[in-house]
Amino acid sequence: MSEPMSLLGEAEKLDAADRLAAVRERFVLDDVTYLDGNSLGALPAHVPARVEDVVRRQWGELRIRSWEESGWWTAPERIGDRIAPLVGAAAGQVVVGDSTSVNVFKALVAAVRMAQEDGGTGGTGGTSGAGPVRDEILVDATTFPTDGYIAESAARMTGCALRPVTPAEVPGALGDRTAAVLLNHVDYRTGRLHDLPALTAAVHAAGAYVVWDLCHSAGALPVGLDEHGVDLAVGCTYKYLNGGPGSPAYLYVRRDLQPRFDSPLPGWNSHAEPFGMRPAYAPASGAVRGRVGTPDILSLLALEAALDVWDEEGVSVAAVRAKSLALTDFFLRCVGAYVPDGRVESVTPAAHAERGSQVALRCDDAGEVMKRLIERGVVGDYRAPDVLRFGFTPLYVGFADVERAARVLARTLAG
Ligand SMILES: *Cc1c(COP(=O)(O)O)cnc(C)c1O
Repeated sequence: MSEPMSLLGEAEKLDAADRLAAVRERFVLDDVTYLDGNSLGALPAHVPARVEDVVRRQWGELRIRSWEESGWWTAPERIGDRIAPLVGAAAGQVVVGDSTSVNVFKALVAAVRMAQEDGGTGGTGGTSGAGPVRDEILVDATTFPTDGYIAESAARMTGCALRPVTPAEVPGALGDRTAAVLLNHVDYRTGRLHDLPALTAAVHAAGAYVVWDLCHSAGALPVGLDEHGVDLAVGCTYKYLNGGPGSPAYLYVRRDLQPRFDSPLPGWNSHAEPFGMRPAYAPASGAVRGRVGTPDILSLLALEAALDVWDEEGVSVAAVRAKSLALTDFFLRCVGAYVPDGRVESVTPAAHAERGSQVALRCDDAGEVMKRLIERGVVGDYRAPDVLRFGFTPLYVGFADVERAARVLARTLAG
C-alpha cells in the first residue's frame, strides 16, 4: 500500500520543517504517543530541580523567611502576569490560585453582583442602579460539568434563575433580565471552539457580564481577553500550560471592573491590609482582590517553572496555534486514510475557526477502543458515552506521533 508510506513520509517532512520540534526536548517523554495533554500536560524536564530547590532550600532552610525572600507572598500576581500574555491580557489583571471550580464560583457570583448593582431590585443583590432587574444566568448547556454545578449553586445564592443554553443559542436567549453568562471557550468533549469575540459582544449589547472558561484554549490558541473586552475569565494550568497535577488555576478580572469585583470568598489574602488582622473586610485593589487564602506554594512554584517553556526562542501562542491546526488537520487526514469509512465519526468541526486543539471521534465502543489504544502506547482519553478524545499539545507532539496514533487506531478499530 502506498498511502501509509506517503503519510509517514509526509509526517517526517513536516517534523523536519517544524520550528517548534526542538521544544519537545524540554519535556520528559518516552516512546508512548501522548495525546492527553488536554487533560494533564507533560512534565517540563527542568521542573523537578526547581521544585526540589523550593522544598529543600526555600522551605527547608529559609522556612518562614521565604514568604518575603523567596517571593512566596507575591507569587499569585507574579505568576498571573506570566500567564497574562498567553491569554491576551495586559499585566495586573490575572491572579493565580485555587482550582478552576472555585474561580468559576468567584467570577460568576461577582458578575451577577455587578449586574444587579447596575440594575434595579434583582435577586438578593444591590439595588443602586437604574437598569432593569437582572435575575437570570445563562450557562453553556454543553459545559464541563463542574461549571454547570457551580452555576446552579451561584444562581440559587444570588436569587437568579439558571438557563442552560448552547453557545449558539446564547444571542437569542439574552435579554434585559440576563445578569451573567458562563461559557466554555472550547468544548471539552467535541473540541469545538466558540466565537469569543462575537458572543462577548452579544452579552455586552444585552447589558450583561460574561465569564469565559479557558481551560481548553489557554496555551493552545489565542484568546485575546483585553482585545475583545472580556469581563471575567478563569482557566486551569495543568492542561496546555503543563503546570502539573492540580496546579492552581487563574482568574482574570478586567482592569476597569476590578474596583467593582465583589468576591463571594473574601479571604484575608485579598484584604487591603492582610496583616492588619482587622475584624472587618476591606478589599485590596487590583487583581489581588481575587485571592482567598494562603496560596498553594509548592504547586504554584512548579507552575511558575513550567511557564519558562514559553520564554524559549520561537515559542509563541501564534506559533503554537499554527502547529496545532496543522497537527489536527493531519490527524483527520490520517484517520480518513487509515480507518474504514463509517467506523468513527469526527465530532470536531472541520473549520479552523471552530476547532480547538483536540480531535474527538465518536464510535459506539469508544471506552473499549481507548483501553486497547492505551495498551498499544497511544494515550488519549475516553469521555462517556462514546467519544475518543485526542489532545495535541504543539510544544511536544510531532507529526510522526500523529501518523502513528492514526495507524494504531485503525489497527485497534479493526479488532
Ligand atoms: C478541566 C476543566 C475544569 C477543571 O476544573 P478543576 O476545578 O480544575 O477540577 C473546569 N472547567 C473546564 C471547562 C475544564 O475543561
